[in-house]
Amino acid sequence: MARGNVELQCTICNETVMVWKKFSQKWQVKSWQDEMLEDASEFVCEHCEKELHEKEVSRINEKYNPASLNGSEKQVAWAEDIRLKAIKMFANDEKIIKFICSLNDAVWFIDYRNNLETAVQEAYFNGKY
Ligand SMILES: [Zn+2]
Repeated sequence: MARGNVELQCTICNETVMVWKKFSQKWQVKSWQDEMLEDASEFVCEHCEKELHEKEVSRINEKYNPASLNGSEKQVAWAEDIRLKAIKMFANDEKIIKFICSLNDAVWFIDYRNNLETAVQEAYFNGKY
């Protein structure tokens, strides 16, 4: 077991954070560190990421008033995340975003989470929902 550490500075709050990850092989640590440092100029800490996420969610809620989803509490929470991804995917297309916000089946989002773009397009253009 090897542990990689990288010190990164959040581009939003300027806080320095130690990010770490465990690896089974020592050589994996180095390539992970290099990768992390390469993206260091875009690093956002967990706290700021959460804040950004919440802001984004409330912006969408205000603007589009998305349908409440049907499903268990767990399904709904998961599907809301997937729906947000879908909305971001079609950020330039208001009509599709409005359509996405009209869908209310949590399981639908979960079922198509890996194939979201196509599923939304098929549902929107071909009525396959
Ligand atoms: Zn931060």
